[in-house]
Amino acid sequence: MSTTRLAILGVTGSIGRQALDVVAAHPDRLRVTRSGHRGDDLVALATADDVDLVLVATPGVAGLEATVAALEAGKRVALANKEVLVVGGHLVRRITGGAGDLLRPVDSEHCAIWQCLAGVQSRDVARVTLTASGGAFRDLPASELAGVTPERALRHPTWRMGPKVTIDSATLVNKAYEVIETHWLYGVDYDRIDVVLHPESVVHALVELVDGAVIAQLAEPDMRLPIQYALLWEHTPSRAPRLDLSRARGLTFRGAPDAERYPCFDLVLRAARSGDAGALIGVSAADEIAVERFLSGEIGFTDIAGTLRAGIAAAESVPLSRDPSLEEIRAADRAVRAALAGEATAARA
Ligand code: MG
Repeated sequence: MSTTRLAILGVTGSIGRQALDVVAAHPDRLRVTRSGHRGDDLVALATADDVDLVLVATPGVAGLEATVAALEAGKRVALANKEVLVVGGHLVRRITGGAGDLLRPVDSEHCAIWQCLAGVQSRDVARVTLTASGGAFRDLPASELAGVTPERALRHPTWRMGPKVTIDSATLVNKAYEVIETHWLYGVDYDRIDVVLHPESVVHALVELVDGAVIAQLAEPDMRLPIQYALLWEHTPSRAPRLDLSRARGLTFRGAPDAERYPCFDLVLRAARSGDAGALIGVSAADEIAVERFLSGEIGFTDIAGTLRAGIAAAESVPLSRDPSLEEIRAADRAVRAALAGEATAARA
């Protein structure tokens, strides 16, 4: 069996570190030949000659250029970054045709969908359902959300992840992004993708077929399983903990997210459904800024939605073609960030 030569972008982050654990468990199958994190020349790492597979695990829109460059250089990509498909889904789908050997989703939900779809014809898929833990504040009265601290928001109930995705889980921006990713990875229309709250994070996704049969994927919440699947692209013994249903435990489902508690979820999905590429670039840039501002104590948790709205508004004045190029996306992203920085300066003055 040949060894896959791996580049890890974002090696110091949560996904990067867990990927190293997976590599250590399979030294005969995987070898890290390049690694780096934010600020390195990610494109150079992603396109190096001694790389077969690139794990894109840096957060934010910065991962898009490296992903496209890797795919254009003939590399396979294991994608852990959300913003890549949120702002550049059309570019990545044009090259890859969606999820598969070339484009391997690292997220638990999208890895689960891939497994549920094994042996299923796409015409037989009626609906896809993603589960959401509900994040750190799912049980907090909505009236108390305005006063929550960053420390509290970073305590995710079921997953251990980096700060950006943990805050995005508390606002459910993360889940709205996963709906967008599902659309691009699996070619499913937005009106056939549902989200249900499932606090235990054991069922990761469900696929309903045209006859009403539902196929689900279950596993203990541990990212090493989807990371390993993406790196090896097959089921192989892993270090992830086993699901033991012989011990009594409840699996609960609480229905769709409540719009009052999770206004950002609705905002992002409305931007996606509008088909307006600028709105998603605006929301993505604004969310990176909003999370940073919340973590530094500059804004409150319930102000994040307002920042996202400001991002969408700022993107409206940026000229964009219907399926924007990488250059156009980068320019629009910069314009939105500049507009939001200007607003913040004006507000302080
Ligand atoms: Mg996920």
